[in-house]
Amino acid sequence: MSSTKTIRTRMAPSPTGDLHIGSLRTALYAYAYAKQNNGKFIIRVEDTDQKRLVEGAMPRTLQIFKDFNLVYDEGPDVGGPYGPYIQTERLEIYKKYIQELLNKKLAYYCFCSPKRLDEMRLVQKAAKKIPKYDRQCLKLSDKEIQTKLKNGEKYVIRLKVPDNQNISFNDQIRGKITFNTNEVDDQVLIKSNGIPTYHFAVVVDDHLMQITQIMRGEEWISSTPKQVILYNYFGWEMPEFCHLTVLLDPTHPGKMSKRFGSVMARQFLDDGYLPEALLNFLMLLGWNSGTEQELYTLEEFIKAFNLEHLHKKSPIFDRKKLDYFNGLYIRKLSDEKFGEYFKKFLPEITDNQIKILTPVLKERIVKFSDLKESLKFLFEDVNYGKELLLKKGTDPKSAIDMLTKTKSLLSGLSTFDFQIIQTEILNLLKENNWNTGEYFMVFRVAICGSAFTPPVVECLPALGLNNTLRKIDVALHHLSD
Ligand code: GLU
Repeated sequence: MSSTKTIRTRMAPSPTGDLHIGSLRTALYAYAYAKQNNGKFIIRVEDTDQKRLVEGAMPRTLQIFKDFNLVYDEGPDVGGPYGPYIQTERLEIYKKYIQELLNKKLAYYCFCSPKRLDEMRLVQKAAKKIPKYDRQCLKLSDKEIQTKLKNGEKYVIRLKVPDNQNISFNDQIRGKITFNTNEVDDQVLIKSNGIPTYHFAVVVDDHLMQITQIMRGEEWISSTPKQVILYNYFGWEMPEFCHLTVLLDPTHPGKMSKRFGSVMARQFLDDGYLPEALLNFLMLLGWNSGTEQELYTLEEFIKAFNLEHLHKKSPIFDRKKLDYFNGLYIRKLSDEKFGEYFKKFLPEITDNQIKILTPVLKERIVKFSDLKESLKFLFEDVNYGKELLLKKGTDPKSAIDMLTKTKSLLSGLSTFDFQIIQTEILNLLKENNWNTGEYFMVFRVAICGSAFTPPVVECLPALGLNNTLRKIDVALHHLSD
């Protein structure tokens, strides 16, 4: 490949669902590689599998790239010189290329019924052979083919895979990969509905869109031989291939599965992870800088990224590490931005409450979706049992004493301000010689209905005096039961 060529990378999502977090990582690397080389990053929608299309998946996927600031230069909604960028809008283009292969006898019509193919596969399986098309239709004469076509018989068009040839391609992570064509099935290129399969459309499009480097998940390695054969048949220059590792689940063997937590890029945003934090985490999931540096902005990553440091071994998606990154990025937010996220994840919160709670929470929270649970007590009375108030072994009588005295102290304050409340409560503790741990557990549970909460005294001004007193009354009521 000549070095003067513009680097063009692409992401080719199929709108069969939301974008997987692993695909977001692929997109990030493909984007960074293009940008680092002053190249272009392209989105092409691969919607040839009409049966698996999911309504709304395409706009949602495009939005994900926007939400993560992976700005694409060409794509369905932004256009570009090589459009259209949706495969079903390119059907006329594929016709021309399949005709070329048919003319050269590098592809052929197959009229076999699904029933015959099923039976053939069963026989092959029983004989412990790899299921492969037996090429019955390759024997048809031109005349027979024309008659069948004239009669309107249903057909697919298959790739005529060359016999017993060793073909290689270079994978930028794994090096040279060689396969024998005897292992490759005569892949269907055009389905009976006239729509191409992924294998055919991907090659035509990557060529016409002048893609120079294909980054994708390693699950596509086994498809690459078919694509290499097509490149050879057309006499097209092959792009570079770079098959990235899969992301493994930390708790179970194998790749990440939705059974063990969020796996779609959108879900992570809904969970309250910041796009910058998630991207930073993904940067290091399968790539290392070779230095100690762990925190990267997108701009920094574009500069630092290199193919040589991509890993061969599949990385584990360590959710704890992601939480750690997210915390770091939350602390870096301006109070204003923090407030925006706060409101987004907890629309009931008032501006005044945000002002009071931002300094308390910005240093502590792991992700924004946690706010709903930890601040539930601001909006409702959380149910809890009397035992929780006495969790630290406090006897009910002392707990009643603690709460009664706290209530009268709080009602007598001139301003319901954190500093004042804090000083007064500490004085009260001292005067009564209460155990600090016990006291704060009783008080925390009385106010929040939970033993794990944000710093309770700091939250009181956001709760307000009346609500605070009422919650203490409810707790006293529980204790006297
Ligand atoms: N449409 C394929 C997918 O859904 C793209 C594979 C490729 O990048 O070639 O992942």
